[in-house]
Amino acid sequence: MRNALRLLAFLLLTLVPACANLNMFSDEYMNALGVQAYAEETKSAVEIKTGADYEMVQRVGQKIAAASEASFAWEFKLLKDDKEANAFCLPGGKVAIYTGILPTTMNESGLAAVMGHEVAHAILRHGGKRMTQEALLSVALGAVQEGMSLSEMSKESRELTMLALGVGSRLGMLLPYSRGHETEADIDGLRYAIRAGYDPWEAPKLWERMSKLGGGGTPVWLSTHPAPDARAAYLRELIPQLTAQEQQWRPKSVTPVLKVATGSRQ
Ligand SMILES: [Zn+2]
Repeated sequence: MRNALRLLAFLLLTLVPACANLNMFSDEYMNALGVQAYAEETKSAVEIKTGADYEMVQRVGQKIAAASEASFAWEFKLLKDDKEANAFCLPGGKVAIYTGILPTTMNESGLAAVMGHEVAHAILRHGGKRMTQEALLSVALGAVQEGMSLSEMSKESRELTMLALGVGSRLGMLLPYSRGHETEADIDGLRYAIRAGYDPWEAPKLWERMSKLGGGGTPVWLSTHPAPDARAAYLRELIPQLTAQEQQWRPKSVTPVLKVATGSRQ
């Protein structure tokens, strides 16, 4: 089965790049799938619900969410697994940070860089776009129909859908996003971090720290985000112009100010 998934992943990445920006799935459906995949991917994990790291994940999450201006039903879970250097954001704003990535993110701005990048994948609808590529391939495994829940899918379709959504470490593999989607997530992720008041220069430093890991095996997050040194270099080129553009950003007022009539009426 794993070989079949690898073959499909290869086909997705090589044969249908022209469809990379087509999304035939509605937000409503993708958000429902996000909820299901979140439950599936985190069901056997130990969730941390107190302490400084938990507070930091909530704080960074709320700030990045506000900066993204997406109206998602956000959730930010901190999962206890010191060996899993990973993070993801599913459609609809379902975020998970594994404790194993915290030594590499090192500080709050480093975590904001990771969180901003993952949130950007969700806001740019990269999961739905990848599922569209998958559906257009008309894989022999059976195409996913809009409206079908994860539990209604065949085992093969369910696993492929999880991979398209950006999770699936429990299958022992993850599917990298295309280079184009990665660049989009890098740029928008940095915008969110800057708007949220974090230090964007921590992003290239984070990638450099990632590249120095290795040794005991490539971190999960890095396995789907290759070429960290090149990424650090182009982020450094981007940061000055993104900072100039985003320092004017102000949060939208969510509660309209009601005009109260002064004076009395009779
Ligand atoms: Zn990415």
